[in-house]
Amino acid sequence: MINFEYARAGDVADAVRLIADDPAAKLVAGGTNLIDLMKMDVERPTKVIDINRLPLNQIESTPEGGLRIGALVRNTDLAYHPLVEQRYPVLASAIMAGASQQLRNVASTGGNLLQRTRCHYFYDTATPCNKREPGSGCSAIHGHNRMHAILGASEACIAVHPSDMCVALAILEAKIHVTGASDDRVIAFAEFHRLPGDTPQRDTNLKAGEIVTAVELPPQGFFKNYTYLKIRDRLSYAFALVSVAVGLDLNRSVIAEGRVALGGVAHKPWRDPQAEDALCGQPANAETFSRAANILLHDVKAYEHNIFKVDLARRCIMRALTQAAGGTPQSQSSKKIV
Ligand SMILES: Cc1cc2nc3c(=O)[nH]c(=O)nc-3n(C[C@H](O)[C@H](O)[C@H](O)COP(=O)(O)OP(=O)(O)OC[C@H]3O[C@@H](n4cnc5c(N)ncnc54)[C@H](O)[C@@H]3O)c2cc1C
Ligand code: SF4
Repeated sequence: MINFEYARAGDVADAVRLIADDPAAKLVAGGTNLIDLMKMDVERPTKVIDINRLPLNQIESTPEGGLRIGALVRNTDLAYHPLVEQRYPVLASAIMAGASQQLRNVASTGGNLLQRTRCHYFYDTATPCNKREPGSGCSAIHGHNRMHAILGASEACIAVHPSDMCVALAILEAKIHVTGASDDRVIAFAEFHRLPGDTPQRDTNLKAGEIVTAVELPPQGFFKNYTYLKIRDRLSYAFALVSVAVGLDLNRSVIAEGRVALGGVAHKPWRDPQAEDALCGQPANAETFSRAANILLHDVKAYEHNIFKVDLARRCIMRALTQAAGGTPQSQSSKKIV
């Protein structure tokens, strides 16, 4: 048992002060990732700062016509919220494709953004891992790398970001509101997570001592033509091998705007502006979708055990775009389980 202190923050300023006072402290929300990592001896915080009493559990409309989601809104409450189901169904679908009902009931929006990779070497402290212990090496590159990245990886780390919710937030171009000791700032979703480069220990561009307070969704929700498609080893309770979030704005059968993000293939949800440009102004047909898939997968690099992901990703992109264009999302329904 490794000793740690427990503190409960009363408000955001208190949480910011507590975390600024102790750089080795960690915030805890639902605890579904942090506590597992502590049990596995991967995270060893000197202090755990409980943020569950902060007033960050509201979902509110913004004056611009979007939504502001507090960082402590639970994944279940977000997926079942009427405004999310009506205006951002791709987000509801993506959340419902993740974890289990019990986990979603406690997992928070902020914690989901900041959950760490599921690379098994990261969890196994007997093996080298640059993300866990910078400079120690990457066991996955020449090891068992079936779940690992095919895009945007580096020699230092080939891990993937595990979140489903984040893949939908990528196409919705969410904004992340954060508060730190000196100021508040807003981070564009595309800038929030990082590629591994030579600093794989840093998953995000959050500065030390900053807290996520909210996620803001712009008005465009792609509620008519969308899909979240997740392919995994089991039908539920498994992380994505490949997932695809698609949002299309169609003018009859011509694509006025198209967004595509891939999950399970990179250190962050993967988008390519050139692939989305290739959809714009084009008919929503297989030829157009194939062109976009080629661009999205142009720079793939597979490893010994995950080469299958390249063809899988191509098929998933084609299927997700076809379903979104047809207005027939096959993703899981977010209907309440009673
Ligand atoms: C068995 C299992 C299966 C799962 N399957 C899936 C899946 O298929 N798809 C999927 O997407 N997810 C899956 N998950 C992951 C789950 O979604 C995450 O564990 C959860 O979203 C994390 O939220 P939390 O509130 O519990 O975070 P916590 O564990 O409380 O925190 C996680 C991290 O976020 C930090 N943090 C939390 N809130 C804030 C904040 N407001 N500001 C700054 N930092 C913060 C913490 O310090 C910690 O580092 C699975 C988890 C488990 C255990
Ligand atoms: S892929 Fe990344 S997380 Fe996994 S062992 Fe290599 S450095 Fe660690």
